[in-house]
Amino acid sequence: MDAHAFRGAEAIGGAGGLFARARAQPTYLDALLSAGLLIESGVPGLYGRSAVFEAIGDGLNAAITRLGADQEAEVLRFPPAMGLADFETSEYLKSFPQLAGTVHSFCGDERAHRRLLARLEDRQDWTDQQAPTGVVLTPAACYPIYPVIARRGPLPMTGKVVDVLSYCYRHEPSLEPTRMQLFRQREYVCLGPPARILAFRQVWMERGLQLATALQLPMELDVANDPFFGRGGKIVADSQREQKLKFELLIPVNDGEPPTACMSFNYHMDHFGALWRIGLADGGTAHTGCVGFGIERLVLALLRHHGLDPARWPQPVRETLGGL
Ligand code: AMP
Ligand code: ZN
Repeated sequence: MDAHAFRGAEAIGGAGGLFARARAQPTYLDALLSAGLLIESGVPGLYGRSAVFEAIGDGLNAAITRLGADQEAEVLRFPPAMGLADFETSEYLKSFPQLAGTVHSFCGDERAHRRLLARLEDRQDWTDQQAPTGVVLTPAACYPIYPVIARRGPLPMTGKVVDVLSYCYRHEPSLEPTRMQLFRQREYVCLGPPARILAFRQVWMERGLQLATALQLPMELDVANDPFFGRGGKIVADSQREQKLKFELLIPVNDGEPPTACMSFNYHMDHFGALWRIGLADGGTAHTGCVGFGIERLVLALLRHHGLDPARWPQPVRETLGGL
């Protein structure tokens, strides 16, 4: 589907609307909002989803579960938040301070409440009247599992696979529909000796390509890096690339932009194993790796390439998604 497919879709929000842009041609985001697949919230990157959008996401999740049926994975689900102590242990703030989101709440007395209301009334900033709650929004679906597995004691030398799904928060507001602030990651996470993780990652790169092929999506697999913060971060990112620790499956989605990472295949070496002291039966430190499927990005890729009405998608694609 090319960019012209969306000509004629209405610009969203009118001249004064939040997403109004001085652009003759409606964007892919405009088309998604117009069709009601995504629902505007007033904040870029924060959207409601329609029943159709959710059904596609559910179909993807079921397809991923089928792909992972032989993994003997332990299914773990967490709310999209983690405790401050575990978040600190993860060292996320060292690498990605710009992306983290923390939960704050009003903790004052009645006098403080009156002050809060007065601020609101005067249209002044009231958020400094809140205090940290000790709850941090989950930045990646696999983060909450490491402390849980660590507490159970050493892992067998055969390792272990965990299946997770979570909404994740990243502070990266954008008008690209593929870059959301709250989105879902479905992951399989492998913990064990290094060779086990590398074999796991190889298998999942093949399965990722297989899934994208079955969904009739154009794709390429490439080496990638995470957006490490600052000047020091550039060195870390370069080294991550050089060691081929991260691969991404890229699919063209946005108008005139480079293709979008819709799956990632990560080898963390002993980074998380060492931080959380995840041990192996032989006394060594566990290595870890994960495959992450971006549910929203895959839904958006499908809508982009097969059209906004899944009833009209190619039959094999619908079957891969469980019939839709
Ligand atoms: P990462 O942990 O950055 O490798 O992300 C894993 C997967 O989550 C990516 O391959 C994307 O499909 C998805 N993802 C990452 N960031 C975003 C975002 N801001 N909005 C939507 N999906 C995202
Ligand atoms: Zn992960």
